[in-house]
Formats: sequence, structure tokens, C-alpha cells
Amino acid sequence: MSKPQTREEWQARAAALHIRHQAFIDGKYVDSASGKTFECISPADGRVIVAIAECDAEDVDRAVACARRAFDQGAWSNAAPAQRKRTLIKFAQLIDANREELALLESLDMGKPVGDALAVDVAASVRCMNWTGEAIDKVYDEVAPTGRDELGLVTREPLGVIGAIVPWNFPMLMACWKLAPALAMGNSVVLKPSEKSPLSAIRLAELAIEAGIPPGVFNVIPGFGKGAGEPLALHMDVDGIVFTGSTAVGKHLLQCAGRSNLKRAYMECGGKSPNIVFADAPNLRKAAVAAAGAIFYNQGEVCTAASRLLVERSIKDEFLAMVVEAGRKMQPRHPFEPGAPMGAMVDEGQMQRVLGFIDKGQAEGAKLALGGNRVMQESGGYYIEPTIFDDVAHEMSIAREEIFGPVLAAIAFDNEDEALRIANDSPYGLAAGVWTNDLSRAHRVARKLRAGSVWVNYWDGGDMTAPFGGYKQSGNGRDKSLHAFDKYTELKATWINLDP
Ligand code: NAD
Repeated sequence: MSKPQTREEWQARAAALHIRHQAFIDGKYVDSASGKTFECISPADGRVIVAIAECDAEDVDRAVACARRAFDQGAWSNAAPAQRKRTLIKFAQLIDANREELALLESLDMGKPVGDALAVDVAASVRCMNWTGEAIDKVYDEVAPTGRDELGLVTREPLGVIGAIVPWNFPMLMACWKLAPALAMGNSVVLKPSEKSPLSAIRLAELAIEAGIPPGVFNVIPGFGKGAGEPLALHMDVDGIVFTGSTAVGKHLLQCAGRSNLKRAYMECGGKSPNIVFADAPNLRKAAVAAAGAIFYNQGEVCTAASRLLVERSIKDEFLAMVVEAGRKMQPRHPFEPGAPMGAMVDEGQMQRVLGFIDKGQAEGAKLALGGNRVMQESGGYYIEPTIFDDVAHEMSIAREEIFGPVLAAIAFDNEDEALRIANDSPYGLAAGVWTNDLSRAHRVARKLRAGSVWVNYWDGGDMTAPFGGYKQSGNGRDKSLHAFDKYTELKATWINLDP
């Protein structure tokens, strides 16, 4: 089938989809034990797509027991690295082979433009699974530097059963960032997707079986945070809980780990990333277009969204005018429209939350330079136009709290020290950008920024080859790259006496 080219063609493809809606436990689709379901709603028009199995503690028990059995049985956990490698690469190929369906599910479920889902979410998921698969048989264990009469072996072992809880902004990609390294290292996984975006994860489970991952190794339990996520985090037979989502829930999950079995706990949380533009930036127009893209891409629902624009005062008005011009071109459209720069907010609650922040920004005295409204209301969907605030003071809530929507707060600064002070004065530390032509300053500022990723003269560089994660309350641990394997393995030291 050729790739749809128009909104109508995507719509027709969506109408023909066979949407899976059950939990996936022990290699099979099953209803929740209670038989309960919840509605999956399309943010593009507010219509119900399908009823999804609503899992609770009983389903978590079932899934964890299967995952444990599969782990102990060893078909996956003891498989040779070369076999796990072949299987994950096949998994990547199957994601790629089903890319349009997966992109559609993502777009239908959470409102992002289908073109972005295809070019970014699906492509990056394929790359993640493939790169990680390729890496499996290139990771060596260690021999400790010892005296001649003993041998110290340092070996990696899988943790066992991993509980993975992921958000709705990049549903499949965030799942793959957990799933790929967890499976690569031989673990079993129970994945709880967000209740706002379970469709791609449910479909992924079936592709995993087709790729050759044994039943029980990868299970999916759709449901709510309290009902399904919390029992997973508290489960005494789960060895590790890995999470991407808000800082508040991340903190709660650390407590769950402490209250239960001290399971390994790794949290990738929120951000309020500063994008610092100095007057000597190499190309102000390019920087302005990038600044707009860095906040409005994915409707601003990006953990690394450049939500704080710090601009040197001498160029602030000129620069902000260019950002406004670029932002104005990024009006939301139906997610199936080819080339739509933004789609719909994930649900009505998130839309209202973002509109609440826009009201607060105005009430606190910031000046609205662009947007500020809900649009396309007649569609029944949840759309907000690109919104830019000028004259923002660093103390205002729009400059401090993670809005997770298309709202930019522009703050002026007078010198490098002040820019750094404002940038770092945040509980978050996920990402930051610096725009300057001065090489020494670029390095100096990058070094002083308390953030897990720093971009110089662009935004959002990254690849599977480099780790991703946050400082401070943006999280602990790292996804992507070989460093991700640390979260899914125990290190064992084995000492052998060579002169017994
Ligand atoms: P969220 O914290 O509300 O939910 C995330 C997941 O946690 C969902 O699956 C949810 O059901 C579950 N959950 C909620 N309450 C729970 C509880 N009490 N126990 C167990 N599980 C629970 O976050 P969200 O709204 O889905 O996603 C947005 C957040 O994710 C933003 O803060 C964003 O910055 C963050 N995020 C971070 C990264 C990163 O890599 N650091 C990437 C993407 C998104």
C-alpha cells in the first residue's frame, strides 16, 4: 500500500484500521480481569476511538507472574547475545514495515501531526530498536586488574522483571527507549502506557511476538496511574521500575520503590529548558525559526521544549519579532493534514491546563505577543494557537512551571552571568541551548549549565549514540546509548583464587 498523501487518504486508512484494545499478557491479547474498560478519545475531534481494557492490581499480578516465569525459564534471559541481537533487529524491521499504521495510531491517539509521527516517532523507534539490537554483542564484561594469584570477573546480569511506565507525548518512542535496552540485556518487561495513548504500545506487543520474543517476556497493561501504575511500582516481584513522565509522579514512584522492595528506580521527568540567545548569535533569523520550532513542535508537549527564551536585551525586540513571525506560521491544523506544523493537545484537561497558564501569565503582567487562544473549536478537538509572552519576569509562574503546551516565555538579560543565573535557577535541568559566535563563551556557558543536554547554535540535536536524561529534578539515570544498559543490569564481581 502506498503512503497516503492527503488528509482524506489518511482518514480512509484510519477508518480501515483494526485497532487492538486489550491487554497483552503471556503472548496473548486478553481482557482486564475485572472486565472494565475506559474510553480512548481522539483529541483531533473529541470522538471515542475504542474502549481499552482497564487493568488493575490483579492484571499487574498476572503480567508480573508471566514475566517472572519467562525470565526464570530462560528462553530469552539466557539466549546468546547474537540471538537477542537478531530478534531486536527483526523487531525494528517490523516496526518499520508497519510504520504508517503505527504513525496513524500515534496521531489518532494523542493528536500529533501524522507526518511528524511517521518522520520522527516511528523512525526514531526503529533506529532505537535497531541500534540497541546491533549493540548487544559488542558489550564486553571486564576482568579486574588483580595480582597474579586471583582472578576478578566483573559481569553484567539482567535485573529480572522490569516495570516500565511511560507518558503520552511520544508514546511509542518512550516505550522503545525503555524496552530496547531492557530486552537487550535479557530482562522481561511489563509496560504500562499512558491512559491517554495506549494504542501503539498494545500493537507493539504483537510485533514483538512476531519478531521472535518469547511469550511472557514483553507484556502490556493499559490502565490508569493509580490503578495499574502504582501496583506495578509497589510490586514485590518487580526488580526495576523505569519511568518517563512528570516530576511529581517520578518522586512518588521513588517512594513506592522504597516502600516495597527497594527495586531499582530510574525516573526521566519534566523540564523547563532555557534557550539562551546572545547578541552575537551567528544567524539571528535562523535562531528565531529554531526557537519557535523548539517550543511549538509537538504542540509544546515535549520534555525538552525550549519554553524559556532568554535573549540579550540589546537584540530582544528585534529577535522576538522574528520569533513571533516564525511562530505565526505554525498554526495548528487537523493532525492528518500533510505538513501540519501542530496538531491537537492530547485531551481537554491538558488544553484547559495550558489555557489556565495563559490566563495566569496575563494576570501576572506578562505581555501577550502572539496567540493565547483555543482555536478550531468547531472541530470538537482541543487546539491551542502558538502563544508567545514578552516582558516575562523570571519569577512568574509561566517562567517557572512546566506548562507542556505551545507557550513561550521570553525573558531579557544583560550579561552572561545573569543569563546563567536565570537559566540555572530552576528545579529542572533537562536541556538548554546557547546561541553565540564566541567559541570560548559557548564552551564556558555549556559547561556551567546544569542540564543533561546542551545544544550550541541549534536545538534538539541527539542520537542513539549519546545518553539522554536530566540533572536535578528532571530525573536520574540515562536513556539511549550504551549508558542505558546500566539501568537494566546488576554488576557482579566474581573472585577466583588461582592458588588454592
Ligand atoms: P504523568 O507523570 O502524568 O504520567 C506518566 C505516566 O505515569 C502515565 O503512564 C501515568 O498513567 C503514570 N502515572 C500517573 N500517576 C501514577 C501513579 N500514582 N503511580 C504510577 N504511575 C502513575 O506524565 P504525562 O502527563 O503522561 O507526561 C508528561 C510529562 O512527561 C512531562 O512532565 C514531561 O516533561 C515528561 N517527559 C519527560 C521525558 C524525559 O525523557 N525526561 C520525556 C517525555 C516526557
